[in-house]
Amino acid sequence: MNTKYKMCAQGKQQTPINIVPSKDVDLKPLDLQYKADAKSIINNGHTIQVNVAEGSVLKIDGVDYKLKQFHFHVPSENNIKGDSFPLEAHFVHATDDGKLAVVAVMFKEGAANASLAKIWKEFPNLEVGKALPFSMSVDEIKALMPENKDYYKFMGSLTTPPCSENVKWHVLKTPLTISKEQINAFFSQFGFPNNRPIQNTNGRVVEE
Ligand SMILES: [Zn+2]
Repeated sequence: MNTKYKMCAQGKQQTPINIVPSKDVDLKPLDLQYKADAKSIINNGHTIQVNVAEGSVLKIDGVDYKLKQFHFHVPSENNIKGDSFPLEAHFVHATDDGKLAVVAVMFKEGAANASLAKIWKEFPNLEVGKALPFSMSVDEIKALMPENKDYYKFMGSLTTPPCSENVKWHVLKTPLTISKEQINAFFSQFGFPNNRPIQNTNGRVVEE
């Protein structure tokens, strides 16, 4: 096996999981300080990813986790109490020394989301592996998260190789909506579901 993928097969703290909260600890509100616009968009072969300019952070215990990019999975990777969702967005943050934190947002079928529409509009222009300039304001980025940011918290991994662990996961409890047409458009962009299967929790604690 390629050592690059070793953690994907042998890790004990892999994501995604079926989220079943095991500990009610009154989590602190998420300290999201988003100030920067998007700068580019890419189909990297796994997903559609929007890269963000510097200046947006998620503060955790006084440490700045800088927002680097956000991307999408259809259907959702994590499940919540056994429920899968048609789309899950991952906002990926990193500290200067490489620690990772993800904020995940679920979407259920309903009204179209305007920020998704703006991203989806780029699909016909995307070639795998080639980033294109993309403008999206910080307010449009924030519209990809619900007002109510209550969340589930657990330790996990990246869901694509190298599946690195010690990633702080924050999955928002409140879903937004995506239209049937938007779900189908993502599917036809890829031609396959781009979610990783559910992984074993191995006794991990999920806080809420
Ligand atoms: Zn992801």
